[in-house]
Amino acid sequence: MGFEHLRTELEEMKQAGTFRNLVALESAQHNRVTIDGKELIQLSSNNYLGLAAHPRLAEQAAEAARTFGAGTGSVRTIAGTLEMHQAFERELATFKHTEAALVFQSGFATNLGVLSALLGPEDVVISDELNHASIIDGIRLTKAKRRIYKHVDLADLEAALQETQDARTRLIVTDGVFSMDGNIAPLPEIVELAERYDALVMVDDAHASGVLGKAGRGTVNHFGLDGRVALQVGTLSKAIGVLGGYVACEQHVKDYLIHKGRPFLFSTSHPPAVVEANREALRVMEEETELFDRLWENTEFFKQGLRDLGFDIGTSTTPITPVIVGDEARCHELSDRLRQEGVFAQGIAFPTVAKGKARVRTIVTAEHTREDLTTALAAFEKVGRELNLIG
Ligand SMILES: *Cc1c(COP(=O)(O)O)cnc(C)c1O
Repeated sequence: MGFEHLRTELEEMKQAGTFRNLVALESAQHNRVTIDGKELIQLSSNNYLGLAAHPRLAEQAAEAARTFGAGTGSVRTIAGTLEMHQAFERELATFKHTEAALVFQSGFATNLGVLSALLGPEDVVISDELNHASIIDGIRLTKAKRRIYKHVDLADLEAALQETQDARTRLIVTDGVFSMDGNIAPLPEIVELAERYDALVMVDDAHASGVLGKAGRGTVNHFGLDGRVALQVGTLSKAIGVLGGYVACEQHVKDYLIHKGRPFLFSTSHPPAVVEANREALRVMEEETELFDRLWENTEFFKQGLRDLGFDIGTSTTPITPVIVGDEARCHELSDRLRQEGVFAQGIAFPTVAKGKARVRTIVTAEHTREDLTTALAAFEKVGRELNLIG
C-alpha cells in the first residue's frame, strides 16, 4: 500500500552493505549479553556505570510499580505529575548545583523542547557542526537564525559571535562529550568567549552525565564552571541507566519551559518505575564511587590495548573509543567478525558519522572485568590482522 520508492532505496542499501537488521538481546544489559543464544562481551552500550540492570535500581522500579502502578495516565501539566516527579527534579538540581531542573521524556525530547521554546526570530543559535541529531532537529524547530561553526573551532566560534552582535540572545550549543569521537568540548574557552561577547551557553551532556565531574555531574562541573552555563541538558538513559532527559537551569527558565516546552506539555509523564529508578541512580552515583574508578581504569586499559595493537582510535579522552576503519562495508565486516569471535561492537557509518569515517565504536563500562577486556583485545587483534587493519 504505497511508498514503493522505499523498496528501491532499501535495495540500494542492501547492495551497498549498509542495511542493518536490529539486534535483539536475550538477556539483561550487562558486561556480557546473550544474542542469538550466544554470550558476547558487550562493547556497544551506553551503560557506563552498569546501572541499567543494577539491582538497587531494579528493586526501586519494582517497588514503585507495585505501589504506584505502571503508568501515570496524563501529561505532567494536567494530571500526570506525581510528588516523586517533583522530588526527583529537586534532587537533580541539587546534584547539578543549579537552581532548578526539569525532566523530559528523553534527552531527544529535551533538546527539541528547550531549543524550540527558548529561541525566537530575534535570536541566533550558534551550533557546533558535529552536535547530536536531536540538537539539529531542535534547531530546525526554532525560528532563530542559525550559524554552524566548525567542530570545536574557537576561531570560527568567535567569528560567529562577531557576526551576530545585534541579536537579542546568542545561544552557543555544544555537546559536552561528542558521541562518535569521544572528545570533550573545550568548554572553558567556549564559556570565556560567551562571557566576552555577552552570549549564553547550552551544553548537551548526554555522554557526560554520570561520566565526567564529581559523581558524574557532567562537563560543567568537570571544568569547574558551575554557575557559568545557562542550560545543562543531559540524559538519564545512558550512564544513569534508565530513561529520560533533563535541563538544569535557573528557576524562571524552568517555569517558562513548563508552559512552552512542547514535549513536556503534550507527551505523557514518566511511569513511577522510571522515576524511582532514576532517583536511586543518583544515590548510587554518590555512594558507590568505586564505579567511577573502575570505569576509568577500564577505559585506560582498553584504549592502551587498542593503541598498542596499532588501531586508529582517534582522539578520545573518554570511555568512548572509536576504532576507525573508514570504508563502510569493511567496518561492518569488522563488526560481524568480532561478533563471531564473541565481541559485540557495532559498526557506525554514514549518516551517523561522515562518509569515509566509518568506525566500530566501543564503550567500556564499570562492569567489565579485566578478563572481558583482554578477551576482547585478543579478538580485535585476530580480526584486525585478518582484515589488514593492523600489521
Ligand atoms: C543519546 C543522546 C541524546 C538523546 O538522549 P536520549 O535520552 O537517548 O533520548 C541527546 N544528545 C546527545 C549528545 C546524545 O548522545
